[in-house]
Amino acid sequence: MDLGLAGKRAVVTGGSSGIGLSAVRMLLEDGAKVALCGRSEQRLEAAAAPLISEFGSAALPVVCDVRDDQAVAGMRDQVIDAFGGLDILVNNAGQGRISTFADTDDAAWRDEFDLKFFSVIRPTRAFLPDLRNAGGGSIVVVNSLLARQPEPHMVCTAALRAGVQNLVKSMSLEFAEDAVRVNAILLGLVDSGQWQRRYESRADKEQSRQAWMAALAADKKIPLGRLGEPDEAAAAVVFLASPAASFITGASIEVSGGASRFA
Ligand code: NDP
Repeated sequence: MDLGLAGKRAVVTGGSSGIGLSAVRMLLEDGAKVALCGRSEQRLEAAAAPLISEFGSAALPVVCDVRDDQAVAGMRDQVIDAFGGLDILVNNAGQGRISTFADTDDAAWRDEFDLKFFSVIRPTRAFLPDLRNAGGGSIVVVNSLLARQPEPHMVCTAALRAGVQNLVKSMSLEFAEDAVRVNAILLGLVDSGQWQRRYESRADKEQSRQAWMAALAADKKIPLGRLGEPDEAAAAVVFLASPAASFITGASIEVSGGASRFA
């Protein structure tokens, strides 16, 4: 299926690892120009080097912390200078916070609010005029099943994910008159950088990665019996971002191996 991505111009925040990096590669392979950002210059360069050697100037790494308004404005200028406009924005940057209600203090609530909301608000605000000018721009927000199915060890993240889901709907309604679509994916567990970090900090250092992942999938009762791969999440992101999804806005796709318990 031709997703219609040839010649499109995209930004993927958090594009230096995991799901974001998979989405960057898929977009490039389908003929788009793609800017990818992350906070760590070292990680970004390591991720971008093979992309630049394969796709040349169609891959554009930009160091940017999406919580920093000035950095986002700088990224916007760099992208528009290089690509001349923007068709697709993937708001993917971030990570989850493990904490119960009892161990989340005010500073943690504010930090998490800043990350979950402003990682969407700032890039969207910066690039919205460009997406409007593109006439048919699209935004994809990478969200989590926690938005609809909270878990007791991620209380703060889950509450904010629910708010982001609400924001996606509002933006989709507001931007529709300019033909800018806004959609989300709701992730279950995907084997990416954050799970690698949790594996590395596991209590039982003797446990192999494979055994640790299998135990995790069993513990989380994932019907398909495993965690997802970054490419499996990225495929949904790329589809929603593409012209192939031209009549889809305000929608969400679950990518969870069937882990949701709501109908
Ligand atoms: P990874 O840790 O593999 O990748 C996260 C990416 O985001 C990295 O490129 C990281 O680079 C970047 N990043 C993090 N914070 C910022 C920031 N403030 N500004 C710019 N870039 C940032 O994680 P995943 O691929 O798993 O995660 C992608 C998204 O999916 C995240 O939003 C995550 O919360 C969400 N998600 C993932 C799930 C999973 O099971 N994997 C489940 C539910 C949601 P750097 O650190 O250098 O900034």
